[in-house]
Formats: sequence, structure tokens, C-alpha cells
Amino acid sequence: MTSEKIQFNRPHMTGKELYYIAEAKFGNMLAGDGPFTKRCHQWLENASGCNKALLTHSCTAALEMAALLLEIQPGDEIIMPSYTFVSTANAFVLRGGVPVFVDIREDTLNLDERLIEAAITSRTRAIVPVHYAGVACEMDSILTIAKRHNLHVVEDAAQGIMASYKGRPLGSLGSLGALSFHETKNVISGEGGALLVNDPALVRRAEIIREKGTDRSSFFRGEVDKYTWQEVGSSFLPGELIAAFLWAQLEEATGITEQRQVCWQHYHDALASLEKKGLLRRPIIPAYCSHNAHMYYILLDSQIDRQVVLDALKSAGIHSVFHYVPLHSSPAGQRYGRVHGSMAVTDRQSERLIRLPLWVGLTQEQQDRVIAVLVAVLG
Ligand SMILES: *Cc1c(COP(=O)(O)O)cnc(C)c1O
Repeated sequence: MTSEKIQFNRPHMTGKELYYIAEAKFGNMLAGDGPFTKRCHQWLENASGCNKALLTHSCTAALEMAALLLEIQPGDEIIMPSYTFVSTANAFVLRGGVPVFVDIREDTLNLDERLIEAAITSRTRAIVPVHYAGVACEMDSILTIAKRHNLHVVEDAAQGIMASYKGRPLGSLGSLGALSFHETKNVISGEGGALLVNDPALVRRAEIIREKGTDRSSFFRGEVDKYTWQEVGSSFLPGELIAAFLWAQLEEATGITEQRQVCWQHYHDALASLEKKGLLRRPIIPAYCSHNAHMYYILLDSQIDRQVVLDALKSAGIHSVFHYVPLHSSPAGQRYGRVHGSMAVTDRQSERLIRLPLWVGLTQEQQDRVIAVLVAVLG
């Protein structure tokens, strides 16, 4: 057996990143909202059908913009899963909002839409579904509940680019959607993200909040003759070098997704027999969800010690990880948020989950080494 290490993630370069960065540099366009940013905006608007796409520094920044746009006030409640990355909650806590954690579904590990309505109070302002592993939440139910109670839906679609729900792209279904281009995601720019503004009533303020609270975007379109401070905002836009890098990735987004899907399917086929033996559970993709192979995870049988499996992978030179520490059991989650109802599924699934290496360029041979270790340690 070869001792070559298998990394958990390897950021993929399509080949044109440095070329486009040079183009931006020689065009003397280094600040934000130049030609590459415009191309990226156009691409995202075409791909998602959103009203307005706006590049940000990160998905975290896009979620922070969402909290500003919805004018979240101290004490306002935001319903979200506990099984998610910290930014989902932190963006709203920055405005004094209170995350209300609701349990997840057994199958997709997404927010359990059947539990949302009971968590709504007179302080509830928004629901934040997180499309875990690029597999959509039950958006029809979530949107119906939101409409009935006059709530906004902000999709944390950090993992969701090129994935869809009943044919509708993730990030395009709520009032707002947030994407991530962090190097661990499918389409990357190192750090990076985008806010998809679907509600036309929020477009103008979104541009203002992103440009330090000024109407600079209107000024550049010639709509006003000077730009001034309009409301609370910050600098949420990336420079052109980041947008140039991202453009090289967006151009190849279909190919990137297809290559990841080949890896995903190879794990999925190879691990079917361990699932049949009851040793693990593979990801479940509802028929109407088209996913983007963002992640391949396994859920170990509850009798199996996860650390033993992680250690076996590690001694074979394979870097595997688990996540998340549920937010409701983290120090800040306990301080700033509250739980509604039981967190039994969140607690159980988060203790059983392992993510396997998955990146563009991972070979079938390398995947077979991962699979062989799992077979040896579990079977
Ligand atoms: C990656 C991720 C984020 C944060 O994205 P950044 O671009 O790193 O800020 C937020 N939410 C979820 C669900 C994520 O996976």
C-alpha cells in the first residue's frame, strides 16, 4: 500500500485564474465592482434567476448584509438549525437577534420543516434554512409557513451553488440567499461569497448597505449627481482580483460539479454494502433535489466509536473530518440563542458523522484506499 497522503480538501484551479488576475491588474481595475465583478454578477443572475446578485467577501458577509437588510432589532428571533456553521447564527447575533434552534430531519440533516411553526412567536422575523451538503431543504413547506406568518426566508446556500429544488436553483427561493466561495466549497475564490437578492423591494438597499451605506452604485449608473451617506452599511464588496479569480471558476462551474459528482457516486456505490450490513448510513437525496456533490458523508451506526474510524483513516494517511459541534451546545450558542423543542436528531447525527475526502482531481484509486480502510475497520 502506498503511503502517499490523501488530503481532505484540495482547492481546484481551473487554469485561467492567474490570467484573469493579470488582465484585471493591467486594466488598472483593482477596487471592487469592475468588469470581472460585473461578469460574475451577470453569471449568478442568469444561473439563479435572482433579481440582483452582489459579490461579497464571504458568505458570512452576505448573511450579515441579510441581517442589516431585514433590519433585525435586539430581541428579534430567527429560526434556524443548530446543525450548521457558526456564521448562520453569528450574522444575526451581531444585530442583537436571537437564534432559535430547531431540530433537523433524520434523512437530509436539514431543518425539520414540521417543527418550525411551533417555534414561531410574536418576535420571530425570519427563517434561515441551510441547504446542507448542497441538498435542498423542504422549501415549499418553509415558504408556505413564512408567508402565513409574514416572515422573511434567508437561505444559507453556502454549500448550494449549482444545486436545485424542484428545478429551482438554491439561493433563489427565499427573499435572500447567501453563497460561499471559500476554498472548501465547490466554486472558489479563496475567501468569497455572494448575496442573491430575490425580493425586488430589497435591491436598492442591498446596494447601499454593501457600499458603506452610500448610494454610490446609483451614482455610477448616473441616477444621482453625487453620492452620500444613506443608511448603516459597511464595505462588503471584494476587490477585482478576487472577482477575476472567481470568474475563472464560474466559467467552469458545470465541469467542476460533474467531476465532483463522479467522485460522490463512486463512494456511494462502493459503500452500499456497508450500509446493507447496517454499519453506516449513506446520504439520502430526495427525488426532487438535484445536488452538487459538495460533500460525501457517512453516518456510522451508533454502536461504532467514531474516533476509532477516524484514527484508522489517519494511520492510513487519509485526512477525514467531522462537523458540526451543534450551535446549541457551543458556548456562544448557549449565550446568544435558545433551543425550541428536542435537539435529539441534531445531537445523534452530529456524533455519528464523518466527511470523506472529496475534491476535483481525487482519483478512483485514492477513493478505493479510503473505502478499503472503512471496510477493514467496520466490516
Ligand atoms: C461555509 C459556510 C458558511 C460560511 O461561508 P464563508 O464564505 O466562509 O463565510 C456559512 N454557512 C454554511 C452552511 C457554510 O457551509
